[in-house]
Amino acid sequence: MSSKNGTHGAQATVNGGISFWYADDGIPTAREPLPGDASADVVIVGGGYTGLWTAYYLKKAAPFLRITVLEQKFCGYGASGRNGGWLYNGIAGRDRYAKLHGHDAAVRLQEAMNDTVSEVIRAAAEEEIDADIHQGGVLEIAYTPAQLARLKAFHAAELAYGEKDRTLHGARETAERVRVFGAVGSTWTPHGARLHPVKLLKGLAGAVEALGVTIHESTPVTEIKPKHAVTPYGTVRAPYILRCTEGFTASLKGQRRTWLPMNSSMIATEPLTDAQWESIGWAGRETLGDMAHAYMYAQRTADGRIALGGRGVPYRYGSRTDNDGRTQPATIESLTALLTRFFPQLAGIAVTHAWSGVLGVPRDWCATVTLDRATGLGWAGGYVGSGVATTNLAARTLRDLVQQDSGQSGPTDLTTLPWVNHKVRKWEPEPFRWLGVHGMYATYNAADHRELTTHTTDSSRLARAADRVAGRA
Ligand SMILES: Cc1cc2nc3c(=O)[nH]c(=O)nc-3n(C[C@H](O)[C@H](O)[C@H](O)COP(=O)(O)OP(=O)(O)OC[C@H]3O[C@@H](n4cnc5c(N)ncnc54)[C@H](O)[C@@H]3O)c2cc1C
Repeated sequence: MSSKNGTHGAQATVNGGISFWYADDGIPTAREPLPGDASADVVIVGGGYTGLWTAYYLKKAAPFLRITVLEQKFCGYGASGRNGGWLYNGIAGRDRYAKLHGHDAAVRLQEAMNDTVSEVIRAAAEEEIDADIHQGGVLEIAYTPAQLARLKAFHAAELAYGEKDRTLHGARETAERVRVFGAVGSTWTPHGARLHPVKLLKGLAGAVEALGVTIHESTPVTEIKPKHAVTPYGTVRAPYILRCTEGFTASLKGQRRTWLPMNSSMIATEPLTDAQWESIGWAGRETLGDMAHAYMYAQRTADGRIALGGRGVPYRYGSRTDNDGRTQPATIESLTALLTRFFPQLAGIAVTHAWSGVLGVPRDWCATVTLDRATGLGWAGGYVGSGVATTNLAARTLRDLVQQDSGQSGPTDLTTLPWVNHKVRKWEPEPFRWLGVHGMYATYNAADHRELTTHTTDSSRLARAADRVAGRA
């Protein structure tokens, strides 16, 4: 599943192999596929965080339920086994939900997200899952005047959504946390933690199985229809079928234009020396991001590496996904350049791993959780780049929706959040989909370049236009 591809520093870079996290923690032995036709009370399609958390909370709430998870490869094959390990309180679409449902509804959603970060940490502790969690918060930095203007606006907006404990820092205070070359300011929130995505995933899958949920791996679902999940090995019938397939959704019959599979790519360095860490700081192990239009995200791993991600080739024609995480050599080059732009003292450091994965992007860039009471079909996703925590909120919400629909409870604080049962139109057919996404990211890159080279304080009009065309604004 992996291949050597180029050298960055003294060591060859392993490209693919799903992700660095699997190189670190091992690819698990596959569970048995579906042996034939079967029945259940709830079928969950997809064994990422959404599917597994949903199974977890539903089974805990109603132990008598027969729950089956069907996973095409192995649990954690998707974004949940490849992400940057930012457990944080961001949720895609909050501003649009504020426009649609009012500011107070969006504040409730934000507060639910703040609580979700704590809930994941609590549940991991209760299940004795050691996922290298460190709650150092989230530090987002600016290194151009335009980024600083955006950072201040972002900071003010987060306060307006009720984040009272967020703090704004100038260049000196930022450097006291992390010495990013040229950083002029930062905003920090305590609602975030660094974690090891695969350790969380494996621990969660184990906890779900221990509760009595059935998991079948190597079992692709080819079609979902009311009360049926169809696979090459048989059909599982159940009153509720919950689709938790995120960036892979387009491969299901009838779903090609539902959520666009957007690529995100990452690199991991060799472990840094003590002297290198001394020169960088980062003792708080905050998750680290920037305010570029094509933003980056990074973490200091438990074993002393830097794992850093950003957009490479954003989208493959026809909604294709990658090959076991392999990413383009040009993307490895550009992420490595970004790393040394942030930390010039790391020039020449070995990049030991590179990989990519897919996010699910709805046409209006708003994450959703839905249960169609007429058909028993449900789904959650479209998290764009913010799913490590959001999947947990989605799962608890799906639990409540199923319980409400089956008469075991009434509406709850979660079922009335503004992202529940939100409807969105489909993406355009090709080639418009490809042209639109590539145009948008080319514009973001041009806007970032312009901001870096001209020192403008005005956030580029180019990027705002791209946002509008893409449906983000
Ligand atoms: C490189 C990268 C970095 C990221 N970094 C962050 C981050 O730092 N913080 C953050 O909040 N978010 C991040 N994200 C997003 C986050 O990882 C996802 O939003 C989240 O993991 C989604 O979980 P999921 O279970 O919905 O989807 P996935 O984890 O993709 O799981 C879907 C599962 O469904 C299975 N499946 C798909 N189709 C079928 C089918 N037909 N039949 C059966 N099974 C099927 C897949 O094999 C997969 O296991 C990142 C994503 C990527 C790709």
